[in-house]
Amino acid sequence: MNEHIIKKLQNIVGKQYVITKAEEMICYSYDGTFQRGLPAGVVFPATTREVAEIIGLANTEKIPVFPRGSGTGLSGGSIPQNGGLVLVLNRMNKIKEISKEDLLAVVEPGVITGDLHQAVENIGLFYPPDPASLKTCTMGGNIAENAGGPRAFKYGVTSDYVLGLEVITPTGEIMRTGGRTVKNVTGYDLKRLMTGSEGTLGVVTEITVRLVPKPKDKKTALVIFDSLDSAASTVAAIVTEGVIPATLELMDKLTIQCVEKNARLGLPLDAEAILLMEVDGSTVQVNEDIGIIEDICKRNKCRKIEIASTLEDREKLWKARRAVSSAIVQLKPTKISEDATVPRSKIPEMVRRLQEISKKYNIHLPVFGHAGDGNLHPNIIADKSDPEEMERVEKAVGEIFKAALDLGGTLSGEHGIGVMKKPYLKWEMGEVGLSYLKAIKNAVDPNNILNPGKIF
Ligand SMILES: Cc1cc2nc3c(=O)[nH]c(=O)nc-3n(C[C@H](O)[C@H](O)[C@H](O)COP(=O)(O)OP(=O)(O)OC[C@H]3O[C@@H](n4cnc5c(N)ncnc54)[C@H](O)[C@@H]3O)c2cc1C
Repeated sequence: MNEHIIKKLQNIVGKQYVITKAEEMICYSYDGTFQRGLPAGVVFPATTREVAEIIGLANTEKIPVFPRGSGTGLSGGSIPQNGGLVLVLNRMNKIKEISKEDLLAVVEPGVITGDLHQAVENIGLFYPPDPASLKTCTMGGNIAENAGGPRAFKYGVTSDYVLGLEVITPTGEIMRTGGRTVKNVTGYDLKRLMTGSEGTLGVVTEITVRLVPKPKDKKTALVIFDSLDSAASTVAAIVTEGVIPATLELMDKLTIQCVEKNARLGLPLDAEAILLMEVDGSTVQVNEDIGIIEDICKRNKCRKIEIASTLEDREKLWKARRAVSSAIVQLKPTKISEDATVPRSKIPEMVRRLQEISKKYNIHLPVFGHAGDGNLHPNIIADKSDPEEMERVEKAVGEIFKAALDLGGTLSGEHGIGVMKKPYLKWEMGEVGLSYLKAIKNAVDPNNILNPGKIF
């Protein structure tokens, strides 16, 4: 990046908020995947006006810009391609307003999702989207990826809570879409278009989200099964019998073994599956729901049920699920975390197909995730320094996506396309769908400034 551009960036944000030394920029060259890409510069704006000026400058000078929150993305979305400028939004981290009257919060994009949870729960309100990375990821990153999480089963995903956005367009103008009302059908629903656009159509600088009252009570059940089919049938029965748990998480045998080896929580190494379920609502509702769940699990021949109601006991049960990500990488260093999603009735079939793929390509493929909404997380654990293994991994990834699409599912339930899944996008969207996406991108970003090389 030439001196003249660096000077202009320094004039916008201040000298200390522009970095160009390779050793200082390394930590902005990766995310939660194994992709890497060193930028030519990194800039840290503090206001909407600064973001608009940076994007305006980039558009004039034809410099690619890569927006970034905390870099926890699992599709390579924030990673620079062939240099360019990384735009880090972490300094914009104010919770501007929490309104009990209008049941909403207004935040800057760098607010950590877990901090918003804490702030609203302190006054009896609730923001449901809960990506497992919530202690680190940002609200801006959640909007860009349309993040979900365990609670999506009952409460939906980020886009179900977005009321309004302030966005910097790829040419550097400030645009507002939506607002403070629950109902708004004025013009095209641009906030929906922006949510999940992976930083390719605009940079989000302010977010207004809908809140709901905090559930009064909660109970958690950890259930052990001797057969994966029994666990899958339990998931199906719970839904058809009218109970909607806030979360319904599945762990398969390999995942259980990795967690137990790593965290020593006393999980049975011979179990085929664990379901972790949480119900919330009024105390009467919670007791009724947990009773029905217990009954269904017994009918489906579970081995053991543990139920917890106090915060401390619930946290103990959640420990197993929270330990998964760090436990599975003890097998090998490279984690390819997929989130192919199927209609929930197809979960047993999808799990069977994943087991076949694992055998066929001789790869480690622990399966866990949000079984309630069909969003399993098959994780391939490999070693990227072994080219022969990575060739098998690539073939397996293709077959995982094929299986999900065959069963009426989708490539991504929550992690986005980024660079990791773009070779497969046509399989799901077809030529026409893909051209439509590209036409939108070309119309708003004619110079291909914002996050080039992602999605397409
Ligand atoms: C251990 C772990 C668990 C996870 N669990 C979940 C889960 O349960 N559910 C889930 O959905 N995801 C999960 N993720 C993925 C990830 O945390 C989410 O995608 C999250 O939304 C990314 O937020 P971030 O701030 O880290 O964004 P980044 O990774 O920095 O960026 C992600 C994308 O958003 C764009 N972006 C960032 N900020 C903005 C902005 N202000 N305006 C425009 N574009 C922007 C970037 O360009 C990039 O394309 C997990 C990741 C990890 C590592």
